[in-house]
Amino acid sequence: MWVVPEGEIAGLMTPEAAFDAVEAVFAAMARGDARNFPVVREAIGHEDALYGFKGGFDGAGLTLGLKAGGYWPNNAGHGLINHQSTVFLFDPDTGRVSAAVGGNLLTALRTAAASAVSSKYLAPQGARVLGMIGAGHQSAFQMRAAVRFGAFERVIGWNPHPAMLTRLADTAAELGLPFEAVDLPRLGAEADVIISITSAFAPLLMNAHVKGPTHIAAMGTDTRGKQELDPALVARARLFTDEVAQSVGIGEFQHAAAQKTVSADDITALGQVIIGRHEGRGDAEVTIFDGTGVGLQDLAVAAAVVNLAKQQGKAIEVEI
Ligand code: NAD
Repeated sequence: MWVVPEGEIAGLMTPEAAFDAVEAVFAAMARGDARNFPVVREAIGHEDALYGFKGGFDGAGLTLGLKAGGYWPNNAGHGLINHQSTVFLFDPDTGRVSAAVGGNLLTALRTAAASAVSSKYLAPQGARVLGMIGAGHQSAFQMRAAVRFGAFERVIGWNPHPAMLTRLADTAAELGLPFEAVDLPRLGAEADVIISITSAFAPLLMNAHVKGPTHIAAMGTDTRGKQELDPALVARARLFTDEVAQSVGIGEFQHAAAQKTVSADDITALGQVIIGRHEGRGDAEVTIFDGTGVGLQDLAVAAAVVNLAKQQGKAIEVEI
């Protein structure tokens, strides 16, 4: 099997490769060539850790595997970040394990790629103002991907903890764009594309804040109980997601679904737009992409990185 250490990922994986891998796997899901397996996520009763795995099989890309890991809230004491994960790939012809790949940076890159892919297909014409809600670890990756694949001229941002806004200001400066911290009514009125990436458990962006045409990539809600958007905003918008079952179960749309203002039939898998079976934004004033994070995204970027590592002599071969 091949091992690609976490420390090698930054030098191997490009945002373009992550974007292409995620776009291709969303398309494969829509064609019925690839499917995610049920997610396992368990509190293990040790170190307050949440551990789980997300797996799947892409029959088009012939990628089989899983991402294992989770959230260890006390990792600072070990000098580690709290999210920890590793991707394991298997040979779909034989079941032999074929690769183990560090999954921490890949998770950030594939999550950012998903929102950038959603903007490619759903952002209003001429989108120039990017609105960021959230200023944690993921937010910088989200902003970098949005700017790389969009045509944004300025960034505005808000965060529930204002002290963290320096991350957004620093990232915008790195990208050569002006940044301004604003309140949510201004953010909702001025931004053409909004990315929300927080750990909120109550709505932050309200229906009245958003003046279209706007595309919202809601990326923070990946667990039951989390919430970033007003369900009335969800009910007003045209809805897209990576996987419909996950969006009403653990994603942002779980709340509108619980209130029965939205059903699974109202939500379109983004892959349907990518393969041309759905028109996308059409004449909608507001579109929302609920990025719940699917295992096939992890497998797609891991498979891409294994190929790059082999080409560049950075993969380690071990007998198992
Ligand atoms: P982080 O801990 O670095 O930052 C947390 C962010 O959420 C900050 O903006 C913080 O101000 C805000 N926040 C924290 N507690 C809050 C609360 N109670 N109410 C409102 N806001 C709060 O986290 P991160 O690594 O940047 O991840 C952000 C979110 O994205 C997490 O919820 C994480 O689970 C989620 N995530 C989703 C995917 C996906 O595929 N959809 C992938 C990775 C991470």
